[in-house]
Amino acid sequence: MSKCATKPNLERCEKLIKQTYRRSIMQCKLDALLRRLPPQHEKYSQIESELGKRRSGDFGENSIDYYLSQLSGIQDYIVVKCARLLLNNHHFQMDTLLLFPSFFILLETKHLTGTLLFDPDYQQFIQIKKEDINHEISRQDPILQVKMQYNQFKRWLANRQSTRSTIYSPREISLLITNHHVPRDVNILKDYNIDPTEILTGVACPNCNKLAMEKHPREWSCPYCKHQSKNAHTQTLIDYYFLYGTPISIREVGKILHIK
Ligand SMILES: [Zn+2]
Repeated sequence: MSKCATKPNLERCEKLIKQTYRRSIMQCKLDALLRRLPPQHEKYSQIESELGKRRSGDFGENSIDYYLSQLSGIQDYIVVKCARLLLNNHHFQMDTLLLFPSFFILLETKHLTGTLLFDPDYQQFIQIKKEDINHEISRQDPILQVKMQYNQFKRWLANRQSTRSTIYSPREISLLITNHHVPRDVNILKDYNIDPTEILTGVACPNCNKLAMEKHPREWSCPYCKHQSKNAHTQTLIDYYFLYGTPISIREVGKILHIK
């Protein structure tokens, strides 16, 4: 946690603004990939494990909302979540940024189980899980991480501040961040070296998750559990958006949904 004085007696923020992302884009992409990969695929367990880590991380980040809600009413502040900004040709990301009228606080959230050891001398952070007490997992030191973010954000803000005579208010800073936010665009198939031909097509059943539902004049029907749905194809189109990220032609839609 770090804080930095900006300017005292600034106009108080009118009300609390929260930008909450219940699930990160990366988690949605991993979800889509797992749904569309045969379980016997060599990368399946690796992706499943990565998704588990992401879910745990997102849970940690979202659970911070409860603690932040305790602050509401005590003092007005603005919350900016998951901001990714560019500084000197490199991006840096902040989990949660709290903008108060005269200072800011940076939060780096971790959701880890077991015993956690901080070694400030060697800037090491060790996790020992209950189920394997003889195995030490060395992780990136979150204190060092947040100190770096603090310096980067201070420099980023100073660069913007240098071009104007009056000091930015927290609301203006939050708008500035929103306008400069660079979403991380990951091509998940390329990242995991998966060929598009390995991706399973067809509409997944929302009841049993199996592929593929059959198209009837008014609904989709699952040949396995007999579940019927009018809009099961929506998730399939969303999955394809997350996996390919490009517009698709009517012909491709037909191929993906198994319809002529
Ligand atoms: Zn089914």
